[in-house]
Formats: sequence, structure tokens, C-alpha cells
Amino acid sequence: MDWIKLWVEHVVYPLMERFTHNRVRACTAALLATERTGAAQVQLRRLAEHLNLCARHVPAFRALRDVPVDADPFGALQTLAPLAKAAIRRAPEQFRNEEIPAHALIENRSGGSTGEPLRFFMTRQNVEWYEAARWRGLSWWNITFGSRCLMVWGAPVELGRMQLARFRLRERFLKNRVILSAYGLDVRKADAYARLLRRFRPEYLYGYASALCALAQILPAPMPELRLKAVVSTAETLAPEQRALLARTFACPVVNEYGARDAGILAFECPCGRMHLTQENAVLEILDPVTHAPVPPGTAGTVAVTDLTNDAMPRPRYLLGDIAALDPAPCPCGRRLPVLCPPEGREDALLQLPDGTLVHGSLVDKLSRRYGSVRQVRLEQNDPGHAELLLVQTMRDAEQAQALLREIQARLPGVQVTLRTVSSIAPEPSGKRLCATRRFPLRRP
Ligand SMILES: [Zn+2]
Repeated sequence: MDWIKLWVEHVVYPLMERFTHNRVRACTAALLATERTGAAQVQLRRLAEHLNLCARHVPAFRALRDVPVDADPFGALQTLAPLAKAAIRRAPEQFRNEEIPAHALIENRSGGSTGEPLRFFMTRQNVEWYEAARWRGLSWWNITFGSRCLMVWGAPVELGRMQLARFRLRERFLKNRVILSAYGLDVRKADAYARLLRRFRPEYLYGYASALCALAQILPAPMPELRLKAVVSTAETLAPEQRALLARTFACPVVNEYGARDAGILAFECPCGRMHLTQENAVLEILDPVTHAPVPPGTAGTVAVTDLTNDAMPRPRYLLGDIAALDPAPCPCGRRLPVLCPPEGREDALLQLPDGTLVHGSLVDKLSRRYGSVRQVRLEQNDPGHAELLLVQTMRDAEQAQALLREIQARLPGVQVTLRTVSSIAPEPSGKRLCATRRFPLRRP
């Protein structure tokens, strides 16, 4: 009997609903009710509401006042040019909803694989819809609120020891979740990880594709005895060889989630192996990377997202920087949500220390987000002993650059990190701007 799961389901959630008006379960139920029929209508209604809100309260979109939004919401959306992050960065206040008071805003920064963080705002309702989209997807795999989860993730690096202890307690007793740090997976602890998995008996694993794979590679032997419901990979492209490794190691379904910090959970894989869009929460368009004209289903292009749940800082047709394609064939599972082909492009963001320890490259992204002068950053590890930190700053700030270098260096013992300030960093051939990249094959120490 999992007492903590019962506690989360029957005490934590009802209390949150009663006292903080948390709506995650209600939103999840709403999404589940429309996945087989009605999602398109919900999307259309929300798009009209969202564009009307943009016209009334968001300075950047005043031009929408002259567009008959209600008559043709999708046509109205097409009158707007695709929105690059640079445009928001130039005049962020133009994108703020003037009606939402500052105290209701949640600040966040885009991160992950794009390498060029963007500061943006959300509301709590916004976050609840994101979580609901994830819970709906998880429910397709019989994972429910409070299911035991082992997360291979970046534990918050900015916390002190006591705060970290509190964070871990909250994770364990409010979310039934244990976090294994993706920043310090250590081959010497292989047996300890296997013991932790056996003792905790998670229902599912959740984490970055590369971090989950690092764990799978480190474990001394496959662990089919865990009888996991799923391994859920997120935040990075899941390569076929990674999927195969995870399936081999854990003998369970490997599930791909496609999401972005600045757009929510956009697609989730169903048991038929297809990725369904969260159609109710967002409009996802695939555009020609050069002309930004829509491309036909089945053709890969750049992803533009209109997040219908973000009233605080609307960004219709926001260019996420990912490459993907829509899949025109309906899914036999019966869910009518449109299908996305697995997003393309693969990154190698896992760094390796000379002693064999693996450190997830998102660390660089996470640390750099704390420095206001950092516009773009990339750590290039050319061999186990050497890495170069490329840095683009909005204005020259040697002190911040050195502080960031020291922080990164401290977390990569044995790797000599040198700093090079540059005027720009070219994207990878895939088009992605990686925060960290390793240019040699992983080695067994
Ligand atoms: Zn399906």
C-alpha cells in the first residue's frame, strides 16, 4: 500500500483545492472530457477569447481591434506576423496584459535547448493548465495524481543546504516524488541508484532524455523487476537509440512528452505511439523556416505556438525554435487530438568529467539565467579535460562573466573551463542553439 499516494490524492489535493483554489484536477478532467470529441471547438472558442483579449489589453496587438476576430478566429490569427523572441526582447512591456496586476504574475525565463533565455510572465491558472495537460497524458498510461515518480532532473542549484532539504521533503510528501540530480550522475554510485530504485519502487520515471539514458547506462543491469508503467522523456528530442536503450533497461513503454517552458505541454505520446497535441490549450502551426508560410501536414518546419492559456503575456504565433511536422494520419487510439511527428533534431547535451561522472548540460542554462547581462551562452566540451564557455552579453560585465565562469567551473571538477566573450554564437546545424555540447563520444572510465 502506498500511503503517500493516498495522502496526496485524498488530503493534499483536496486541501489545495479548498484553500488555494487549485484547479489542476478540474482542468485535467476538462481536458479528458474533450480529447475524443470537442477539443477543436474548445480551441476555436479559446482562440477567439484570446485574440479579443490581446486586442483590448495588450499594446503589441492593438491592430487586432480592426479585425473581425469572432467571425474567423484562425483568419484573424493569420493577420499577425510570426513572433520572434527578439521582438519580445526589444519591447517586453508591449506584450504584457495591462489588466493583470503585478502581484498575480509569475516570472519565468525560457530555457532548455534554445540557449537564449527570454523573460516572460505567466499566471497561476496558466501553470494549472500546463500541469493538467501533463496529467492527462500521464493518465493514458494509468499514472494518476500522486503516483510515485522518480525524476531525473536538475535539482534547483540556487538553493542552500537547508532549503534543499525542505525542497526534497516537499517533493516527497506533497508530490510523492524523489529527484535524482541530473547534474551529478556518477558511475561509481551505480549500485546505490539500483538500490534506490528497488526501495522506492516508482510507478514511472520522468526526466530529460539524455539524463534518463545516462541513468540507464550507469545501472549495473537492466531492471525489468521494477515493473514501471512508463519512462517519460521530456525537454529534449528523444532519439530512437535512446528510446531503445530505455526500453531495454526498464522493460516498459517509453513515452515522449513535448513541451517548452514558455509554451507548456504541447504534445504527449499515447499508447499507440503517436504524439497528440494539447489542442485545447494551444494552436500549433508548422511554418516554412525561411518564409514563415504554413507548410502542409507531413512537411517539417519551424514550430509557432499560440498559448491560449497565457493571459498575462500573450505571444500569438510565437516561434519556439523547434523543428517538427504535423502527422496527417489519424491515430487508431480514438483520440481526435491532432498528431505531431516526434520533434526533430538531436542534441548531445551531456557533459562528462574526466572521472566519468556525467553532468547534464542544462546546468549551464540554469546557472546563466541568474545573470542579467547574459544574452547567450554555450559551453563546448571538446575533450574530457577541457571546455570553452562562449558568452554573449547585452553589455560588457566582466564581473558577472567571471562569476558565471567560477560557478560552472565549480560544478565541473577536473575540466579546465576557459571563457571567451563573443558577439554571437552560431546555432547548431539542427538550428538549435545549444547551451552545452559535448564533442566526443561518452567514455567508460
Ligand atoms: Zn493516439
